[in-house]
Amino acid sequence: MHTQVNGYRFAYNKILEQKNTLKSLGVNAGKFHMRRRLVYDIKERYPFLKGLNARALEQVNAQLHDSIYALSQAKKKGLKVGHIHFKSRKDPFSVTFNQSGYKLDFENNTVTLSKIGAIPCIFHRPLPENAHVKEVELVKTNTEKWYLHVVFQVPDNTFILKNKDRAVGIDVGNINIVSDSSGYELPAPKFYDTFSKRLKRLDRKISKAKLGSNNRRKLMAKKRLLWERITNSRSDDWNKVTKYYIDNFDIIGLEDLNIAKMAENIKERAKKKGQKYSPKNLIESSFGLMRGQFTYKADMYGRKVVFVNPKNTTQICAKCGAYVYKPVYVRTHSCPKCGLVCSRDYNAAINILKLALIDLGVNDYLKSHRVFDSHKVIKTGGESEFVCRTNETHNELLKTVRNGIGKR
Ligand SMILES: [Zn+2]
Repeated sequence: MHTQVNGYRFAYNKILEQKNTLKSLGVNAGKFHMRRRLVYDIKERYPFLKGLNARALEQVNAQLHDSIYALSQAKKKGLKVGHIHFKSRKDPFSVTFNQSGYKLDFENNTVTLSKIGAIPCIFHRPLPENAHVKEVELVKTNTEKWYLHVVFQVPDNTFILKNKDRAVGIDVGNINIVSDSSGYELPAPKFYDTFSKRLKRLDRKISKAKLGSNNRRKLMAKKRLLWERITNSRSDDWNKVTKYYIDNFDIIGLEDLNIAKMAENIKERAKKKGQKYSPKNLIESSFGLMRGQFTYKADMYGRKVVFVNPKNTTQICAKCGAYVYKPVYVRTHSCPKCGLVCSRDYNAAINILKLALIDLGVNDYLKSHRVFDSHKVIKTGGESEFVCRTNETHNELLKTVRNGIGKR
């Protein structure tokens, strides 16, 4: 398996090398051009590549061009982008078997891949009924772990959840990673702190270790492992939170934060202070993760996620609409006009919910009522009702969502 995957990696690097050479000669070679080169030139020159699955080899070419395309798109948006690097043995790498070349055996817990053979495999859950497997991806992480991603297709309505007739607005932040319009605030998990301390300690050790020494190599491996754990915990945390909201609400309002831009600003700020992109920004950097999870889960389960313009959501009073300026460190919203006093994040969450409902055109309710006074039923021309309210069980549920997180 190692040798085979290294073969695919070799092909990846060769394609990139030829592409770069062509570019220096002023030729911009595209995906199809490079595929021809792969088949008629690279494969002839390095005959051992003929021992690999031909389709998977073509996917390596496609994969390379996909990343190039993603980079060019980011560049168009005005983000700073680097260039595509050659893949070393240490780098994460994946091989995709599309349409054919794989066989999943759930009874014997093996997967058979073309030209590689049978690999023992732990399937963490069965496929849904009448799932049609489209492709599998063999992934090697930079911590030498191997995964198999299975992509499958199911009939449209397989995952649709029952209607809940409820709407919620969610404000995300650093102190409370989630504050919602039903009054619940979920503080940032403690493991961020623990991890950032450990990461700092490791970084100190690495900077003292001699370049190229065995010790340094070991420390670097440790650092990669730690980062993997951070990423996994973060993703696990968001998965639980987003699944909770998707399970219990039909309409979810979120701020349309420009996450890529935010991340860049954070990096910039750190640079100005002479620091590296630091673990302090763990939470901020996971907003993109949250957004992605909300979006795909809403799609999958038939919910509606509305991204609203984040401008002034914290400043405007949710009850009377007055502009109440408060700097970042002021945690309470206190309105001089209508006398409303509540948490800063709660105020924002209600504003987000309002904007989301306006976006969907179900804001009739907002004209006659104020969310704060009744905070109960939102009528939409008699068709359906959206209820948003403070609910004890809601808070209890979120607590159980968090149970077990951070104890690892
Ligand atoms: Zn007010």
